[in-house]
Amino acid sequence: MLDALTADHPMVIDGEPVAALGGAWTEVQNPGRRSKPLGRVPSGTKEDVDRAVASARKAFPGWRDLHFKDRQVALLKIADALADAAEELAQLTAMDTGNALRTQARPESQTLVNLFRYFGGVAGEFKGVVLPAGNDQLQYTRREPLGVVAGILPWNSPLMIAGMKVPAALAAGNTVVLKPAEDAPLTILRMVEIANQFLPAGVLNVVTGKGSVVGEALIQHPDVDKVSFTGSTSVGRHVAESTGSRLAHMSLELGGKSPTIVFPDAVTPDRIDATVEGILLGMRFTRQGQSCTAGSRLFLHRDVYDEVIEKVSRRVDQLVVGDPLDEASDMGAIINEKQYNSVMEYINDGRSQAGVKLALDKSADIPAGLDGFYQGPTIFAGVENDWRIAREEIFGPVLVAIPWSDREEVIAMANDSHYGLAAYVWSQNLTAALDTAQRIESGWVQVNQGGGQVIGQAYGGYKESGIGREFSIEGAIEGFTQTKQINVKLG
Ligand code: NAD
Repeated sequence: MLDALTADHPMVIDGEPVAALGGAWTEVQNPGRRSKPLGRVPSGTKEDVDRAVASARKAFPGWRDLHFKDRQVALLKIADALADAAEELAQLTAMDTGNALRTQARPESQTLVNLFRYFGGVAGEFKGVVLPAGNDQLQYTRREPLGVVAGILPWNSPLMIAGMKVPAALAAGNTVVLKPAEDAPLTILRMVEIANQFLPAGVLNVVTGKGSVVGEALIQHPDVDKVSFTGSTSVGRHVAESTGSRLAHMSLELGGKSPTIVFPDAVTPDRIDATVEGILLGMRFTRQGQSCTAGSRLFLHRDVYDEVIEKVSRRVDQLVVGDPLDEASDMGAIINEKQYNSVMEYINDGRSQAGVKLALDKSADIPAGLDGFYQGPTIFAGVENDWRIAREEIFGPVLVAIPWSDREEVIAMANDSHYGLAAYVWSQNLTAALDTAQRIESGWVQVNQGGGQVIGQAYGGYKESGIGREFSIEGAIEGFTQTKQINVKLG
């Protein structure tokens, strides 16, 4: 498959595979095999954005005016076709992102299928209500699509994040222009190619290129009715300013520095293994920690601090770092050199703090023969909550452990962050667990588990982790439609 990827991968506008109008192409890097780039994608321009938005605008009335069951049929056919291509997409995303095939890429391509099925299934739920206003009145609302939605994607799990935007936006009757991240465009191009077999031309477009060119043109475009952005808080702030200044709709899924809080009763002999597995899962070590919801601040009660650090470190030490396509690999490669260097810089900053202890340091302990940006996991103990490694999103396989003694203290420390995306609470005591869960300032809290988002749940950030909800059916209705009230005098 790798050999087939040395070709050029066009983008898709108005149902057609196209090059950029400027004629330029950009090589796609392969994070796991540096010497084997993955072909080229068009270097999109503002003019390409103009034609993609024009095609989405042209397709909008026809798509909007369909009976919902026709959109449903299209989405369900797409789901079936994506299911048939699930292994191909998984392998492609493993190469594109550096995420390991077995632990990350396969579950992600399956999530994409499930999301098309889910939003296909609920396509009829994008509906309004009728007010009981007497027999001479018909007062009702319609949930109307917004128009053209620009979906701007990050590189860390492109298929899942596209799955959080595209099927819901389409089910609601919008048309879409996607902009994949420069570092991971290939799976998105393939997904759009598959989906377009079942969609009218122009309903789903994709423009590749730089954030500063293609992304910028999309957020400023007067004919883009909504920007659905997932990425860093710093770029998100800029997206909000630009989109907000022209009063367009937006949603922002941004960064995080999420707490994992462990109470002593989660560390009894019969519980410790499940808690350790959950901490590892929540930290997203098997995505090299490159996850917005990583539980990267580990708050351990002092009574169990040493025991948990020791057990987590021993377990994480067993993770196999290797080529993303190797079935034996638990962890793949970091996305690119810049990100690799940034993570190393945080690790060096942590190492230089007085009193810090390195419970595990595998950052440079990489099996021989790998040709990419590989980095093993690192766990810092004895960390204080005001250190940079405890405050900033590292977006790498780096976990910091902070001791606590009192519930009030740990809730205050967990909330002492400008982020508020996810949180994990480990306790068998119902009151302690739920009191903590309810007082954590995060959009999503899990109790006694550490997995990823499940279909249908609400998802989105508090504070600087974002604005808006799109993932649940309620969020999608809010996020991808606007309400029109119609009042009719009868008789
Ligand atoms: P990024 O902010 O650098 O880029 C995200 C996207 O924005 C890319 O497609 C990029 O090309 C584009 N972009 C860059 N400049 C732009 C501009 N001026 N106008 C419009 N678009 C522009 O983020 P990244 O490095 O790709 O991804 C990592 C970040 O994403 C992390 O902070 C992570 O926490 C966050 N993230 C959040 C979620 C979530 O659900 N909250 C999910 C995944 C990733």
